[in-house]
Amino acid sequence: MMIIMKANATPQEVEAVIEQIKGMGLAVHLSQGVEATIIGAIGETHSIPMERFEGLDGVDIVQRITQPYKLASRQFHPEDSLISLDGFNVGGNEIAIIAGPCSVESRSQIIETAIAVKEAGACALRGGVFKPRTSPYAFQGLGEEGLELLAEAREITGLPIVVEIMSQVQLDVMVKYVDVFQVGARNMQNFNLLRAIGETRTAVLLKRGLSATIEELLMSAEYVLAGGNQRVMLCERGIRTFETSTRNTTDINAIPVLKHLTHLPVILDPSHSTGHADYVAAIARAAIAAGADGLIIEVHPDPAKAVSDGKQSLKPEKFAEMVKQVGQIAQIMGRSLASVQGEYSPLKQGWA
Ligand code: PEP
Ligand code: MN
Repeated sequence: MMIIMKANATPQEVEAVIEQIKGMGLAVHLSQGVEATIIGAIGETHSIPMERFEGLDGVDIVQRITQPYKLASRQFHPEDSLISLDGFNVGGNEIAIIAGPCSVESRSQIIETAIAVKEAGACALRGGVFKPRTSPYAFQGLGEEGLELLAEAREITGLPIVVEIMSQVQLDVMVKYVDVFQVGARNMQNFNLLRAIGETRTAVLLKRGLSATIEELLMSAEYVLAGGNQRVMLCERGIRTFETSTRNTTDINAIPVLKHLTHLPVILDPSHSTGHADYVAAIARAAIAAGADGLIIEVHPDPAKAVSDGKQSLKPEKFAEMVKQVGQIAQIMGRSLASVQGEYSPLKQGWA
């Protein structure tokens, strides 16, 4: 249930509503927007009559949130949420381009890639160190050694790092290193993991499950938000369909649908949604035209030798070309590409 306060409601009146909600055993979520103060009463509210709030001083309107997700809904939080990273925001006017290899493989591979994507215009670095591989015999990632290498790449380029977390067991070590947790498609409904991330204040890139509906994605986001972590970004990465000529099918519809249903930023991953380097730029351009707030792209200095997802990884030159095109589309959409504030000094670490 949401309680919209009158524009001139006093802090005491807001406090009285909050006390009333807490007294009913419900959780409170306060959203102080430019237009209005909205107080969310979260929990089993269907049996509570709206009149319990309508009579209180300072209350303007009481509404039930019709969707099953509450904190994630645009009805509850009409303004776009901004997720602040190093000197830029995801979800506002700027387009965030996150790029890097599928897996961190070696020091030279990750640092070379980090420098190349930074020079091409990326604002964050991706790299997997715990990999969700279909086969238990395939490369599983470098683990903490990979996190050290990513931290070094961040030190050199100033790019914040986005790294996939697969289990709560990895949380304590990862939280020390990463700027953004990526929750992969296979873990979108790992509710224990989502709850554990909800307890942190580290930003999250939550990917849509292989056959998850948009509503299920939003319910998963709700798990993180309900824990108090508001720094959630959603990622469309293609869904399973009968079509076999691409790895997945990009649900381009998901972009405007999500922008309509939620205030959370929406990122597209055309690398996993197409599975082919040749198609990545086209779908990246389409995503920005459709209103996405950013892209996550796999880039590898030598895709033929990549230990995972080489087929869909762009060479740095192709990535740079794509960034230019995306920048032009962003401009048509009245937006611009985000860039980091962090210092960039390849020579600082004796690299180069
Ligand atoms: C990845 O980003 O490398 C990855 C495994 O993605 P997804 O979870 O979308 O398959
Ligand atoms: Mn990958």
